[in-house]
Amino acid sequence: MKKNVLIIGAGGVAQVVAHKCAQNNDVLGDIHIASRTLAKCQKMAQSVRDKNSFKTGGAIEAHQLDAMDVEATKALIKKTSAEIVINVGSPFLNMSVMTACIETGAAYIDTAIHEDSAKVCETPPWYANYEWKRREACEKAGITAILGAGFDPGVVNAYAKLAVDDYFDRVDSIDIIDINAGSHGRYFATNFDPEINFREFTGRVWSWQDSKWTENKMFEIRRDWDLPVVGTSQSYLTGHDEVHSISQILGVPNVRFWMGFGDHYINVFTVLKNLGLLSEQPVTTAEGLEVVPLKVVKAVLPDPASLAPNYSGKTCIGDLVKGMKDGKEREVFIYNVADHKEAFEEVGSQGISYTAGVPAVAAAMLIATGEWDVRKMANIEELPPRPFLDLLGRIGLPTRVREGDRDEALAPTT
Ligand code: NDP
Repeated sequence: MKKNVLIIGAGGVAQVVAHKCAQNNDVLGDIHIASRTLAKCQKMAQSVRDKNSFKTGGAIEAHQLDAMDVEATKALIKKTSAEIVINVGSPFLNMSVMTACIETGAAYIDTAIHEDSAKVCETPPWYANYEWKRREACEKAGITAILGAGFDPGVVNAYAKLAVDDYFDRVDSIDIIDINAGSHGRYFATNFDPEINFREFTGRVWSWQDSKWTENKMFEIRRDWDLPVVGTSQSYLTGHDEVHSISQILGVPNVRFWMGFGDHYINVFTVLKNLGLLSEQPVTTAEGLEVVPLKVVKAVLPDPASLAPNYSGKTCIGDLVKGMKDGKEREVFIYNVADHKEAFEEVGSQGISYTAGVPAVAAAMLIATGEWDVRKMANIEELPPRPFLDLLGRIGLPTRVREGDRDEALAPTT
């Protein structure tokens, strides 16, 4: 049965989600977009209409909402008869939006772990600090809450589960590698919310090694990879959401995350950080004005959504998995390559937003069809990966598997 969707947030990822929901509105029903700034939601709704993205006749409506306000969010869920809420607003909103879903009976999907604006880099496993505390409440209310349904976290968690289920008898290590080999042509910009982007890298780097949490500094450990399409790519060990769930849920002894950074990004980041401009703690100017340096930096950097029209090049994101199969050592790289320009032409966003938004819509479709309507809280690696990866292959993010000299598309199961 068709289920109405409420999209929260009106950034680059929401733009993808809105278009993809429309392209699949035979399953998903009417679409509502809500964010702090009504004009952004209206523009997004208009772009869906202008591109004629609807698969069948359908409606898309814009709403103003402060999603930190649980009562206002509940009222909007009721008013729109939304049965699925896709939260692609800032990660500070997760717990309030999830509460509104639990109290109204709507399914909940997000693409990033919850963050408290006053804290950077909490103790691992990060999910246990907020989301997992609501597991019982979701189950009691019979609410499906799917956590981290973007690309990373998200699709890479499904790749990890697929490897454990179908490719190995024993998995020894999962190295998640995220390389953006694209170019936006600006002096400096982040691909998603600068505030969230920088917060990921200003704290300690947590990885799961030999079945325990290991601490490093940012840009301390570099590794270069030879990857399909994007070639040799430099990356650094980085803390990331999915390390915190995969390590606990799949029982793999080594789970690490590697993010590609060019030297220019590292130089600019290092200067900003050393000057104190990436701090989330307020400072007072000589004029008595209290400002948060990180928010000022965000305000002067390009809006990530504005990068889309001139973005070119590709992303390559995947899991390098090592372990044993039938008594022999095995190594596979399960991955996707996405193209910034193609993403812009299809939905008006760059490739990073595209790879994050399409999986969230796939998760919503699987809730609507019942395949993932588990009526409890689940990280992606707790759900069957095949329906998700098959669907992603059909709606824009095909999976490939490289093993030795072979590199082929993951065969669909249906
Ligand atoms: P943007 O910063 O572009 O958009 C965030 C949106 O959230 C904005 O439209 C903003 O509102 C809205 N928002 C913030 N506070 C509120 C509030 N109190 N009430 C209502 N709306 C609010 O981010 P992106 O689109 O780039 O990213 C969206 C999410 O996706 C983030 O959580 C990000 O971490 C995640 N992400 C996940 C990835 C993955 O692969 N898993 C990859 C990339 C991003 P407004 O503009 O109206 O003021």
